[in-house]
Amino acid sequence: MITPHVPDPVFYGIRGENAESVVTASKIVKANEKLDGYMIFKSNQGTSDHLKNELDVNDLRPYTSGFLTGQVCNKPIMMQGGHVFFSMMVNGKKVKCGVYKPTKITKIAQNLILNDKIRIGGGIRKASKNHERIVNVEFLDVIELAKDIQVSNPTCKDCNKKMKSKGTKQGFECTKCGNNSFSKPISEIPRKIECKLYLPVMSAHRHLTRPYQRVKKRNKQIRFDTSTPWFCVY
Ligand SMILES: [Zn+2]
Repeated sequence: MITPHVPDPVFYGIRGENAESVVTASKIVKANEKLDGYMIFKSNQGTSDHLKNELDVNDLRPYTSGFLTGQVCNKPIMMQGGHVFFSMMVNGKKVKCGVYKPTKITKIAQNLILNDKIRIGGGIRKASKNHERIVNVEFLDVIELAKDIQVSNPTCKDCNKKMKSKGTKQGFECTKCGNNSFSKPISEIPRKIECKLYLPVMSAHRHLTRPYQRVKKRNKQIRFDTSTPWFCVY
């Protein structure tokens, strides 16, 4: 995360909450190269600035980004390559969402079920001949989990075997002993995800991604503190 992935005049970059902390951190890093110096920038990195605005579901323009709130309206599916796709209903409109493998939150997305209330943030990926318009998910905030209800045939209490249906509204019968039952047991399957914010792993963070430790954190509008030199030639 600290070094550029391509040849670059910048040797490494450090993000921090203030000028002093990044200078301190730069003294901890041991580089195998003689560096020329440093420069400090005040930026909006780590603020998720690009996801602050609510997207207009009726006007999802490619390359724009923001957030959407709605309900999961189809079962997530994992495609070749390990990416997970699902759709959510936002104000009566269906929006397709993609959670990509490098984010490492595909397992979380796979555990979403119909009617889960979620908020997602991300950018709009342009439609191509292979895929429709998709929101590339950069965060997944689970607001409310739907009940995962499973209805199954009753079990015979004498034989411990599943009963067979005798036909519509005619109840169930044990094929072994002939016991009858009219009620279908309903079971609630425990959910594997929680009502919380899920972020991609660090390695999949973008410059602007607000990390967990900065969630709800707002730095006060401070004047750039010039007591720490913001520019230094070693
Ligand atoms: Zn029986």
